[in-house]
Amino acid sequence: MVRLNEIRRGERAVDPPEGFDASLHFIGCIRTPWTSRLETPRQGRLDGPTCRLELEAPWDEGLLGIEEFERLEVLYWLHESRRDLVHQSPGNDGEARGVFSLRTPVRPNPIGTSIVQLVKIEGPVLFVRGLDCLDGTPLLDVKPDRTLFEPLAPAQAGDFQVGDP
Ligand code: SAM
Repeated sequence: MVRLNEIRRGERAVDPPEGFDASLHFIGCIRTPWTSRLETPRQGRLDGPTCRLELEAPWDEGLLGIEEFERLEVLYWLHESRRDLVHQSPGNDGEARGVFSLRTPVRPNPIGTSIVQLVKIEGPVLFVRGLDCLDGTPLLDVKPDRTLFEPLAPAQAGDFQVGDP
């Protein structure tokens, strides 16, 4: 059941610290068919509807070369989420889990990620399939899907140890 800001039985909210450790630039906006969290899929599907990643200047210049990749990783800011629930009950049954053991949108830093299929590019707009966010969700980042990359060299035991300079 999708939450709309209520606190359920077994859940725990905390007072977040004042201030922030970092700031972000929204690089654009995501356009999807969904205007309510109740109707938005819990996870995107590569055969889902085509959505648009609309990049704003000057960040659209960063799309140079992106047409080489059939799949992308998209990061977005789940802007309608509350951020204070450390224990959550996805089933609304009194059973709670910690936020970091869930893919819930309700997180201290409500960052969502999806692997999407690149359908086409028109100027500063990427048409993609595989999203699960509301229309108007702020866009944080776009990268080639990490599974498209081979490691440069096989890791060797003893290559690196924590504490090495
Ligand atoms: N795929 C992402 C992930 O795993 O990081 C997000 C998964 S999250 C379970 C997807 C849900 O977040 C949607 O079903 C919807 O209820 C909610 N959601 C989508 N867009 C949102 C937004 N802009 N603000 C708050 N909640 C949102």
